[in-house]
Amino acid sequence: MGCGCNKNKQNNPEFRPQTPEEAKGVLSKKIGMVQSFATALASRGFGNNKVNKATKQLRVLSCFGNKHLGGELPSCEHLKESSTPGKHFCGGCGCGDRAATWLMSQGEKYSKLDYPKLHCPLNMPGFTNYQPSKPDEAESPITRRYYIENIDYNEVAKIPVTLPEKVEPSVPPQPESPPQT
Ligand code: SF4
Repeated sequence: MGCGCNKNKQNNPEFRPQTPEEAKGVLSKKIGMVQSFATALASRGFGNNKVNKATKQLRVLSCFGNKHLGGELPSCEHLKESSTPGKHFCGGCGCGDRAATWLMSQGEKYSKLDYPKLHCPLNMPGFTNYQPSKPDEAESPITRRYYIENIDYNEVAKIPVTLPEKVEPSVPPQPESPPQT
């Protein structure tokens, strides 16, 4: 699978980790197809009670990557395995490990990735606070954000997701409060 850009056609791109501070994006000069699509989705607003399929596919790619599907994008450096087998949560947002914070791509239950408005600490594609990558993110080692922005859209469309019907409150899980002393 190629990333669809001219600059990084190598088969095994190297990725660099990002901190939330580094991820505060600005518009880069070259707009990739997926970047343009993700920007449109984020700017359109999210008025429904659950996210649409394409947005969820972008979120799943941002969090889980696609190596498990035969692709070359590793999972996000902030993705954490839950103490509950088979579940994952975001270690970058401070929401902790509990059923309401699990990031799930498939399943019958409404999960965090189904919320129409959802912020990512790294401003990744598919999230409400998505910010396009900075120009230097195209330099090797590239960032995962830049890679996703330039991936062939068919690769995004392949990401398996389910959209549970159950409607939950429109406020996503908040970070846990510090313990009271
Ligand atoms: S929400 Fe953002 S920072 Fe957290 S795991 Fe997903 S992509 Fe990474």
